[in-house]
Amino acid sequence: LFVDQPLGAEQTVALSPAQANYLFNVMRLAVGAEVALFNSADGEWRAEVAETGKKKGVLLCRAQTAPLRRPPDLWLLFAPIKKARTDFIVEKAAEMGAARIVPVQTDFTNSERIRQDRLQTHAIEAAEQCGGTFVPEVTGLHKLSDLVLGWDADRAMMFCDEAQAGMAHGLEGAQRGPWAILIGPEGGFSEAERGRLAALPQVRTVSLGPRILRADTAAVAAMTLWQQALGD
Ligand code: SAM
Repeated sequence: LFVDQPLGAEQTVALSPAQANYLFNVMRLAVGAEVALFNSADGEWRAEVAETGKKKGVLLCRAQTAPLRRPPDLWLLFAPIKKARTDFIVEKAAEMGAARIVPVQTDFTNSERIRQDRLQTHAIEAAEQCGGTFVPEVTGLHKLSDLVLGWDADRAMMFCDEAQAGMAHGLEGAQRGPWAILIGPEGGFSEAERGRLAALPQVRTVSLGPRILRADTAAVAAMTLWQQALGD
């Protein structure tokens, strides 16, 4: 269970109403039951239910069961698409160890609005489900043009079906993070965007092969290739 509170020996953790409902009404845990907690900073801790309640509860931390496994500094930058598919991209990025998830507005992005709090909840649920000890931050919507100017990624891989070279080219010569994977909207990147970004020294355009994939498929494929090459 992800808790946004410090974890340590004999540390008490107050549950939110939603967490209390899940543990006590859905999972039917009683006092003394064990719960695994993480907070993206202190690793995984074994805790016990100390107090139960309808909309509240207290857990008592006992011992650390796993150190923090902070993923390598991979940022997934993606142009929001239809809501359900945007949710899917955020979930998969959290499962696959992205350190930061950045919705970007590109020239052809349709859905300008995103619900950052809702996407952050999806990232938390995905991290809980895959037994992680870290939840990536889902940022607000950034204009790609602004981001690029202030880009402190060591290597950014812009995935375009128009590109010629594969992931080996994308990764070549870059030793450390932060890394950025950039996935465009369903309408792709504009010619101007591709020209502007490809001119930057830390940007490589990368192809996932001859087929045109949906943005969510491309996001998963790109992160998988990255994981294989550099992931934890
Ligand atoms: N560029 C095409 C267009 O204009 O219709 C399609 C865009 S595709 C549906 C959405 C995004 O998925 C692209 O912007 C790119 O980031 C990624 N993508 C899809 N197929 C790809 C491929 N074969 N290689 C690299 N990236 C791909």
